[in-house]
Amino acid sequence: MRPFKILFLMLYFITGPVLFSQGKKVIIIDAGHGGTDFGAIGTNHIKEKDITLAIAKAMLFYNSILLDNTYELYLTRYKDTLISLSHRTKLVNALQPDFFISLHCNHALNSKATGIEIYLHNKTSLQTENQVKSKAIALAMVNVLTERLGYRNRGIKRANFQVLRESIATSPAILVELGFLSNVDEASYLELKKNINALALALLMSIKN
Ligand SMILES: [Zn+2]
Repeated sequence: MRPFKILFLMLYFITGPVLFSQGKKVIIIDAGHGGTDFGAIGTNHIKEKDITLAIAKAMLFYNSILLDNTYELYLTRYKDTLISLSHRTKLVNALQPDFFISLHCNHALNSKATGIEIYLHNKTSLQTENQVKSKAIALAMVNVLTERLGYRNRGIKRANFQVLRESIATSPAILVELGFLSNVDEASYLELKKNINALALALLMSIKN
């Protein structure tokens, strides 16, 4: 752990979250994969780990230049580093954000598969406040991504993903699969900076409520 991180966590535990949140919504953006974990590889050789980090960083950028820092954003990684899933969720449990979003891209053997998928944690029997909020944000996100960016909607799904399982008791949490790197068109789409920016803006727009 880097010294500034230790200092931050010490300050956090001494002073509590109030000092840091100042009434702003705190959001943790988890850029999926990183370091030696490349994630999926595109038909054009782009790597999922680079796409997720680029989108997360574009969200930071737009939050500061367009939204006047409406949100207080934290990334689970700021560089191309390997971070375990449990370290990602430890950050969630330490910061207790208003929302956690894990960014990923999809891959399928069928190269024709396209579209976005949003995952919620799979405990359907337990409708906690965090689960209800997660679903509401997921629905808003599907609308923005399909209507504004033209993505095909593959639906809101449920899974027992570790990052969701270990976050949902603390915060609303979703995992988004932003298109298929195994599809030529969607991999090409994700290759362009302007589309990364559009996705970042769309994600920020859909979490504003
Ligand atoms: Zn992934």
